Amino acid sequence: MTELLLLDVRTMAFASAVSGFLMAATMTGIYLAGMRSRAVLDWAGAGLAFGVGYLIGHILQSVEVAVPDWVAGTMANAAIGLGHGLILIGVQRYLGMRCWTTPILLAVGLILISSLIFPEARETLRARIIIHSGFYVLLDACAGVLLWRAHRPGMRQFHRAAALVLLAFAAFLAVRLSYALVSPALTTSFVQDPFQMAAFLAAMIFGFCITMALAVMMFREKQVELIGLARKDPLTGINNRLGLDRAAARHMAAAGEHGTPLSVVLLDLDHFKQINDQYGHQAGDIALNTIARRIETASRDDDLAFRVGGEEFLVLLPGVGLEQATRVAERLRRRIAGEPTAVGDGELWLTASFGVVECRVGQESWSQCLQRADRALYRAKDAGRDQVEVATCY
Ligand code: GH3
Ligand code: MG
Ligand code: MG
Repeated sequence: MTELLLLDVRTMAFASAVSGFLMAATMTGIYLAGMRSRAVLDWAGAGLAFGVGYLIGHILQSVEVAVPDWVAGTMANAAIGLGHGLILIGVQRYLGMRCWTTPILLAVGLILISSLIFPEARETLRARIIIHSGFYVLLDACAGVLLWRAHRPGMRQFHRAAALVLLAFAAFLAVRLSYALVSPALTTSFVQDPFQMAAFLAAMIFGFCITMALAVMMFREKQVELIGLARKDPLTGINNRLGLDRAAARHMAAAGEHGTPLSVVLLDLDHFKQINDQYGHQAGDIALNTIARRIETASRDDDLAFRVGGEEFLVLLPGVGLEQATRVAERLRRRIAGEPTAVGDGELWLTASFGVVECRVGQESWSQCLQRADRALYRAKDAGRDQVEVATCY
């Protein structure tokens, strides 16, 4: 098998070190480029630890070192253990969980010290594989399971890709550990054993794959965050009109598929220009914020509120028919007109006009539905404002 692959342990240890340093460089680059999450720094540290650990391994097999082999070997294993530990710490930090920093560092220290003190723990390759691989399996399996089970909108496949890399490597290490338990060949360090060579090869592939999976995951994370920010109105914190068309298309399709109704409440504040003229633009902004909060608190979890214009709001009501939507609009109208809006030292009495429509799913487009809501709203304005008008068919 070794001849077939034409690889040797020494070269593979060097390649694994390169993959570790590449991970450190990639993660540092990602951090400097604006992904200012401490988890990215943990992963940069993990890459560095892998790089140093495998490089020591490579040097040990290439040249005579000033320190005894067993000391250098123990250091290499501790560095690699620290790398796996930092991956788990980074995953926990990324997921907003409590990090096991102290227990992991204590375990790395304990393994290091016990390997230095007890010759049995380091003198055979079998003992070393069992102790160290066992530790790495635990760390990688934990990190993999945490990512696999994480819930974050839009992130599932990306979490799972990174989780698969971790779980695959943990599975390989578990097989290697089992082999070490039963194989009579593993008695000395760094034997040119196919399994030992495969371990370095796997470490190199793991380094490349985990770097890629974590980098893509963080890129996606930023993308989701930016899309979320772009779709939020900075003044009121509710959705702006950027995501409206997509949300409407999605809900219209779902309504068509399940045969459920979909309604829209459109509202525009009355004489708002006068409020700005009389009390100033800042007072107007505060009032808009208060109105957005009232719309939000009056909505169910399934309803989606948008600020679609300066002082114009829209509520998408999935699963709601015209009659119920009209009641929702009436309730909102009373909430806006029925209590004063505090602005600085004073208070304002605001009203709004409403247009309500039930979308004719499958018979009209979203923009036709919106036009009907708009026309109903203007009828409410014409009829004297502070009232709800229901859209006619066309
Ligand atoms: P109507 O009853 O006919 O709706 O009268 P209106 O004065 O509300 O008229 P219109 O809807 O045309 O005017 C909207 C005004 O809302 C114009 C602008 O002064 C104000 N406005 C729009 N966006 C903002 C904003 O972000 N902050 C503040 N303070 N005012 C805004
Ligand atoms: Mg207005
Ligand atoms: Mg307006």
